[in-house]
Amino acid sequence: MGKTKHQGPMKKLKMPAPEHWVSPIPFGLGKIKPKHIRDTMKTVWENKDNLGYATNIITKGVCDGCALGVSGLYDQTLTGPHICTTRLNVLRLNTMPAVKPEILHSDIDDLRKYSSTELRQLGRIPYPMIRRKGERKFSRLTWDDALDMIGDKMKQLDPKQYAFYLTSRGITNESYYVAGKVSRFLGTNNIDNASRICHSPSKTALKRSIGVGASTSNYQDWIGTDVLVFWGSVASNSSPVSTKYMLEAKKKGTKIIVINPYKEPSMEKYWIPSNPESALFGTKVADDFYQVNIGGDIAFMHGIMKHWFEMEEKQHGSAINHEFVNEHVNGYEEIKANVDAQPWDEIIKSSGVSKERIIELAELLANSKNAVFAWALGLTMHSFATDNISQVANLALLRGFLGRKHSGLMPFRGHSSVQGSGEMGADPFVLPGGDFQGDNIGRVEKLWGFDLPKWQGDVVGVTLENILLPEDHERKIKLYYLSGGNFLETMPDPHFVEKALSELDIRVHQDIILNTSTLVDAKEAVIVLPAKTRYEQEDGGTSTSTERMVYFSPEIPGNKNRIEEARAEWKIYIDLAKRIKPETAHLVDFESGHEIREEIAKANPNYDGVQHLKKQGDVFQWGGAWLCEDGVCPTPDGKGNLIPVEIPDLNKQPGDFNLTTRRGKQFNSMVYKETDPINGAERYDVLINEEDARKHSIQEGEGVVLYNQYGVFQGRAKFADIIKGNLGVHFPEGNFLLPKGRYEKFAKIPDYNVGVKLEKADKFNARKDTQYLEKRIDDLETEVS
Ligand code: SF4
Repeated sequence: MGKTKHQGPMKKLKMPAPEHWVSPIPFGLGKIKPKHIRDTMKTVWENKDNLGYATNIITKGVCDGCALGVSGLYDQTLTGPHICTTRLNVLRLNTMPAVKPEILHSDIDDLRKYSSTELRQLGRIPYPMIRRKGERKFSRLTWDDALDMIGDKMKQLDPKQYAFYLTSRGITNESYYVAGKVSRFLGTNNIDNASRICHSPSKTALKRSIGVGASTSNYQDWIGTDVLVFWGSVASNSSPVSTKYMLEAKKKGTKIIVINPYKEPSMEKYWIPSNPESALFGTKVADDFYQVNIGGDIAFMHGIMKHWFEMEEKQHGSAINHEFVNEHVNGYEEIKANVDAQPWDEIIKSSGVSKERIIELAELLANSKNAVFAWALGLTMHSFATDNISQVANLALLRGFLGRKHSGLMPFRGHSSVQGSGEMGADPFVLPGGDFQGDNIGRVEKLWGFDLPKWQGDVVGVTLENILLPEDHERKIKLYYLSGGNFLETMPDPHFVEKALSELDIRVHQDIILNTSTLVDAKEAVIVLPAKTRYEQEDGGTSTSTERMVYFSPEIPGNKNRIEEARAEWKIYIDLAKRIKPETAHLVDFESGHEIREEIAKANPNYDGVQHLKKQGDVFQWGGAWLCEDGVCPTPDGKGNLIPVEIPDLNKQPGDFNLTTRRGKQFNSMVYKETDPINGAERYDVLINEEDARKHSIQEGEGVVLYNQYGVFQGRAKFADIIKGNLGVHFPEGNFLLPKGRYEKFAKIPDYNVGVKLEKADKFNARKDTQYLEKRIDDLETEVS
């Protein structure tokens, strides 16, 4: 697809750049800032019983933190060391010993007193375990008994009645691939993964807009581009080392623009520990912030385009790259008509941004030769997320910011290996090498040597709902096989999720640690299987970063706290297949990780090259440096598609606030600090604009209640620089306010943004016994008692 190869790490500029310092006072004394040195010392202390192994993981393994991707201590973008506290925080998962037996086998109600953070700190799952209906404690099981039991149950069920789910905790491409293959071999397409929840609208939108669902550019494109836009992304928090690239970009004259409802402090200023200059004086990250209403991005982008078309009326070519559009883009007239029809009033109301400010950004982009647009969950976790992303692609296509150095579209991924999960086929809509449709089905059947089930598999949210279908329904899910994941703390409506999890006949948790979901009852049994980490997996494993780099992480020996009975995840899937269909299981059997990589290279032609990755540091980038190079897109006619989209109706009642969830000091749902070191917010703080608070006579720190037809959230007001009419709470604490069963219309991920009412806590509590909260009829009908 791409032609040009990535050039490997660039040298950093040596000259200091005081103009980008936060302050000339070293170490940000007197300012709220990440405490990197203290965090590092804490990591050393935490891992003191296994320090040699911990060091080897850091220096030899591929980071299992975020999707920025690094092998050992060196990345492909810049020379110099690459390390951050996110990586240090997750390190202990790989080095800690097993949970003590007296705790592991204590009464279930005692275990339930632990939070997920405390459960994680107890240690690793040491051996297979079971807790049958009515039993108060987990008891030990042999691997054979555990897999026999799961296999026997699966044999009794229609394959539509069980589902697989894989999370993003360091799972390798090899495990995703085998899971995707085994699930189809067993006859089910109900297989989903965590990355789909976060970024499948990016993939869906990019496929329809430019023909390929991945980042078209790489991190080096940030460095020296005219404008780098972060849209609904707090890259500095989710991928701390990205700030190193941002600083380098700023030194080369790049303007960084952040578009977000909340002026995230870490996108304003950051202290980069691996850069001495920044570690001392900090880095001013964003050159400008645009605070857009939650859900107002489509309108905001309409405003940018509307001004471009107005500029064009005055001077042809002043805003649109006609050469690029004529040669490489479809749908110009349609999108122009669509944008022309949007009144400025509507654009301003929906976006919450003034016309003057929208015009400022429109002109900055119109006068730039290059731009990179990076985005994250602020754009993807809406019921209209695919339209959000296609709208970003519209901007890039109209300006020709695609398929070349310093220009491109970048869905900024969260967790290590999430890019590969879909590309390996662990997804109900996807097979390795393409979608689950057309010729790709036959091609994969030929390679795999068995027929694939032809029905559409369900996404995770739907499979959870399907657990509660009537007993005889052909899609009633009766067994759920989870590789990691904590639905109770990640999916909307935790009460419903708990009910659903407990209604399963059998629930399997293949994992490294316990979490709160593991402790929920099941109708027949909960079975827990100990998984190996990516560093323990035989023959190592690969993971794919946001910029499509496929990194090889070798098996790292020397774990003093080795879990004897833990097994590589891909091996467990194969063993399960052998129990259920012994006669044909050789079709899904692999002897080694290398054998799997050989097959991946054939199954997904983009991954041709993965079979040569064998030792530490081995890496290749699929698709080359730029996808859609020279504007040629992998669509049937080679052109990008401009897609007209509508300003969404947020269905807000007068006086309602828009609510979004954000992350603090945490990795996915794993919380590392109760107080976010970046903004000082506690887990139950509600970020609110001071003017909004005053209107409700709410003081800073006062108890407040947020509620809607889905739930109630009690917290404390924290004044923050968030656009009026919008509120922010932490994920997952805020999940009780989110609706279940409301999905993005194309990519089918849950909606994590919602309207809420706000009240002072004392007023709410005084009234709550005398007033009913309104519930929608739909909710009443689907509620289970
Ligand atoms: S920025 Fe991401 S890839 Fe880099 S060390 Fe931190 S967690 Fe790992």
